[in-house]
Amino acid sequence: MDRELIQKLKQKLEQEKEIIEKELERFAKKDEKLKGDWDTRFPKFDGGEVGGAALEKAADEVEEYEALLPIEYSLETKLQDINLALEKIEKNKYGKCEKCQKEISEKRLEVYPEARFCLKCKK
Ligand SMILES: [Zn+2]
Repeated sequence: MDRELIQKLKQKLEQEKEIIEKELERFAKKDEKLKGDWDTRFPKFDGGEVGGAALEKAADEVEEYEALLPIEYSLETKLQDINLALEKIEKNKYGKCEKCQKEISEKRLEVYPEARFCLKCKK
């Protein structure tokens, strides 16, 4: 595979990584023990209000937390794929399908630089 193209894709991956990490930082925190893992922060209840209003507020926050989970999951999965792709670039193993070991088409990598499988194996 063309070195220049790999450099280009590497830059793209690093940019995407930065964007995703910023996005995740807005509502999740990095799990220090597990590399690449993020936890959605559960909203804090301040407990300042009493009765119905407080309960209603708590319910809203739980709803918000539940809505954030799938977003966190998809961002995290993408981030892991990006890290994996960057690792492969370091080890000169980039651009190969993990399943059939054939080269992934450059066209596919340009659109989807973190791709782990070729089009055939992805199905
Ligand atoms: Zn394949």
